Amino acid sequence: MAKIIDGKAVSGQIKEELKAKAAEWKEKGIEITLAVIQVGKDAASSVYVGNKKKACAYIGIRSLAYELEEETTQEELLALIDELNGRKDVNGILVQLPLPAHIDESKVISAIDPQKDVDGFHPQSVGALCTGQAGFVSCTPAGIIQLLKRSGIEIAGKECVVIGRSNIVGKPMALLLLWENGTVTVAHSKTENLKEVARRADILIVAVGKPQMITREYVKEGAVVIDVGIHRKEDNKLCGDVDYDDVMSVCSAITPVPGGVGPMTIAMLMNNCVESIRLQS
Ligand code: NDP
Repeated sequence: MAKIIDGKAVSGQIKEELKAKAAEWKEKGIEITLAVIQVGKDAASSVYVGNKKKACAYIGIRSLAYELEEETTQEELLALIDELNGRKDVNGILVQLPLPAHIDESKVISAIDPQKDVDGFHPQSVGALCTGQAGFVSCTPAGIIQLLKRSGIEIAGKECVVIGRSNIVGKPMALLLLWENGTVTVAHSKTENLKEVARRADILIVAVGKPQMITREYVKEGAVVIDVGIHRKEDNKLCGDVDYDDVMSVCSAITPVPGGVGPMTIAMLMNNCVESIRLQS
C-alpha cells in the first residue's frame, strides 16, 4: 500500500516554525507585512486570497488587502504597486492571478520590487533561482521540495520527471530538483511517448492541469507521485491531475488532493514573507 504524503500535516509543522520566527521579529519591533492585491471578484481567487489572509493571521503576519474593481486600469494597478514598493512598512507584495484580460500580467509582475516579490514570479527571482543566488522561489515548487524532504524522500541521484513546463510550477520545479541533484526530465504537450518518459521517474511531479490524466500506465512500480493539479469535479469534489485510486496500487508514495501540495503552497508563501525580512535587511 502506498504511503500518503500528508501535506496538511507537513504544512502545519512549517506554519508552527514560522509562527515562532514571526514572534521573534515582533519582539525586535518588526511586524512582517504582506500586501495582497486582487483585481475583480473571481470566485476562486477570492477563496485563495481569503486563505492567504487567514494564514497570515495565524502566523502573526499583518496583511493589507487591496480589493480593486474589475475595471481598474493597468496604470492604476502599476501606481499602487509603485506606492507599495516604496513603503518601508510593506515587506511582501502579492498580486492574485489571473488578472482581467485588459491588464498585462507580465508587466505587473515585473513592476514588483524583486525584494518584495514573495510569489517568486519576477524575472529577477527566476534568474536568481537559475543561477543559485538569493531570491524568492515560487511557492508551489518550493513546497514540493519541503514535502519530499520532510517525508524522508531522497532526491539526489534520482530520476525526476516533471510533466508541465509553466513558469510558476514546471520550470522552477525542474530547477529546484536539479539543485537537489536529481536527474531531471521536463515533459510537456509536445513530448513524444509521454507514458514511457513518465515511467522513467523515481519521482514523478505532475502539473499538466488535466483532471485525473495520469493513470498507472504512466507510473513505474515504486515511484513517488506528486500531484500538483487541482480541479473541481461535477459532483463538487476536488481531484488532481493524477487518477489517485488507480495510481495508488503501483506507487510507493503519493500526495492526495486535497491535502497534498495545496496547503504547502500557502505555507511557503508565509515562509517567503518571513524570509523577506532577512532579504531586505
Ligand atoms: P499550465 O496550464 O500553465 O501548464 C500546464 C503544462 O502542462 C504545460 O506546460 C503544458 O504543455 C502541459 N500539458 C498540458 N497538456 C498536456 C498533455 N496532454 N501532455 C503533456 N503535457 C501537457 O498549468 P500550471 O502549471 O499553472 O498548473 C498545473 C496544475 O496545477 C493546474 O491543475 C493548476 O490548477 C494546479 N496548480 C496547483 C497549485 C497548488 O497550490 N496546488 C498551484 C499552481 C497550480 P505546453 O507547455 O506544451 O502547453
